[in-house]
Amino acid sequence: MKAVVFDEQGLCLKDIPLPKLQPGEALVKVLLGGLCRTDIEICNGYMNFRGVLGHEFVGVVEEAEDKALIGKRVVSEINCPCYQCEMCRVGEYRHCYNRTVLGIYGRDGVFAEYASIPVANLHTLPDAIPNEFAVFTEPLAACYRVLEQIQVKPTDSVVVLGDGKMGQLLSQVLSPMVSKFICIGKYDKKLRFLKELNIGCCKFRECRLPFNADIVIDATGNPTALEYAIGIVKPRGVIVLKSTVADCFKLNLSRLVVNEVTILGSRCGRFEPAIKSLSSGMVKVDYLISGIYDADNFLVAFEKAKEKESLKVLIRFG
Ligand SMILES: [Zn+2]
Ligand SMILES: [Zn+2]
Repeated sequence: MKAVVFDEQGLCLKDIPLPKLQPGEALVKVLLGGLCRTDIEICNGYMNFRGVLGHEFVGVVEEAEDKALIGKRVVSEINCPCYQCEMCRVGEYRHCYNRTVLGIYGRDGVFAEYASIPVANLHTLPDAIPNEFAVFTEPLAACYRVLEQIQVKPTDSVVVLGDGKMGQLLSQVLSPMVSKFICIGKYDKKLRFLKELNIGCCKFRECRLPFNADIVIDATGNPTALEYAIGIVKPRGVIVLKSTVADCFKLNLSRLVVNEVTILGSRCGRFEPAIKSLSSGMVKVDYLISGIYDADNFLVAFEKAKEKESLKVLIRFG
């Protein structure tokens, strides 16, 4: 089968054998994959990953022990837990000490014609969600993760930093929940999308400070955004970090201590709320698609995804 592989030879399309199913796994025929910043970071050395890339996708189950699953359209959670360690025993599967992660750590990903996926990770999709939208389930679930971690009150003022894919999705999820909301971005085109959705936004450096926000969420992918977040968060407020940035930088933490600010890391979330809002149309994703490419053109897709103006780029496998 065709697969987009990252290894010693770099990023290339390879012909590799079909995945061998382990007990509890299903063989999923991949239809569409979504390119994520993480995929690009992996090609820059992040996580030292070698193998089939990709973790965002929609597919159809072709083989599974449970015959009722066959033919079902599915998306998949990316963390594959051991179900035995200390974290798994308390139900914190996404923090399993022995986990593998689709296309990121210890397990082949989904940028291939077929992928082997633990059945427990699969979620079947309602017909209301087209394939092009279903690919957004995983990143949207990561936005809903914030609501699992902190209570957002209607009276809260919320700032999202970053107008990229994650910033756009976070803005759509959070802005209807609070009376004061603003997304701070850098790109006119991306900010225009938010305006069209009637979501408050402004351009970085054109915003008037201070904001005194109860909650500031960083989705910029830029390590220096934390410093900016510290400058606009209220005393006793919360800063949520959504970007996994490999870079290090120097930061004065005294303001955090004096103002008793909480810093919260936030990663993967439950799929159910994401599937629900994609199905109802409450969260819009059509405008986030910057291009759909055939697997043979995966290199063009990667280049497109790296463009500053790009949002989500999809790769077609089936
Ligand atoms: Zn991703
Ligand atoms: Zn575990």
